[in-house]
Amino acid sequence: MKIRILISNDDGIYSPGITALAKVASRFGEVRIVAPDVEQSSMGHAITASRPLRYKRIRLDDFEAYRVNGTPADCVALGTHHWQRIDLVLSGINLGLNLGNSCWHSGTLAAAKQAALLGSRGIAISTAVSDKEEPDFSALEPYIAKVLDLLLEEKTMPLVNVNVPQKPRGIRWTRQSVRHYDGKVVASKDPMGRPIYWFTIRPLQGAEEGTDRWAVEHNWVSITPLRLDLTDEKDLARALALHHTPPIATGTSGNSQKNKTSPPAAKERKATRRTNKKTRNRS
Ligand code: MN
Repeated sequence: MKIRILISNDDGIYSPGITALAKVASRFGEVRIVAPDVEQSSMGHAITASRPLRYKRIRLDDFEAYRVNGTPADCVALGTHHWQRIDLVLSGINLGLNLGNSCWHSGTLAAAKQAALLGSRGIAISTAVSDKEEPDFSALEPYIAKVLDLLLEEKTMPLVNVNVPQKPRGIRWTRQSVRHYDGKVVASKDPMGRPIYWFTIRPLQGAEEGTDRWAVEHNWVSITPLRLDLTDEKDLARALALHHTPPIATGTSGNSQKNKTSPPAAKERKATRRTNKKTRNRS
């Protein structure tokens, strides 16, 4: 039986990246496209909760395609609702890389993440673009196919972020680079002299070896397995060791328990007071 592949993106359904991805994906299974009607780049994992969603069936090459008045995450939720037993969600091919910290803002990755949240699998695929021309998708096709070959073999990776440089020389497994943040606010003036601000992305160089940014800087296709659980295990372990949760009084636990837990509990109360004070000062 053919696998079912739902395709979405954040560049909008009319982006050339989505048909390029659908073409490669159709070699691996049955394909359906559900994507935003307009660009939703950098919208992250927003969902539309205050108004209804609608879709329209459209013609996109030979693919069954639906454009939705919503975010990438909406599209995956809606697509999954209408097409049962989806095996895989592919998001992209995004016109622009999604490396390091930009994963937190990416709508492309959010579509894949929505699949993972729903218990399916999601793979986000992004590529480098220049100001002058669109990416050469036919040149990227063999690499995308190779990545899908590789990832479909892996049954245990629910969420994967893939970035493809313009002229790849091979494929590397990587980790997310979070050492530097590339977002910056730049102040300017509008024609009337009033202050305006651009939230810009500045190029970063010199990433740590083995990371997604490093791989793409060295012309490797980067594959990063991601996880949904954001818990900082080290901090959690430290917090659990320092602050004993006070036991629930049962009447039999006695004073020894109380004595053991009272100093950290007092510390916690102090900390709470401090936080409250801070909050008051700010408002
Ligand atoms: Mn985009």
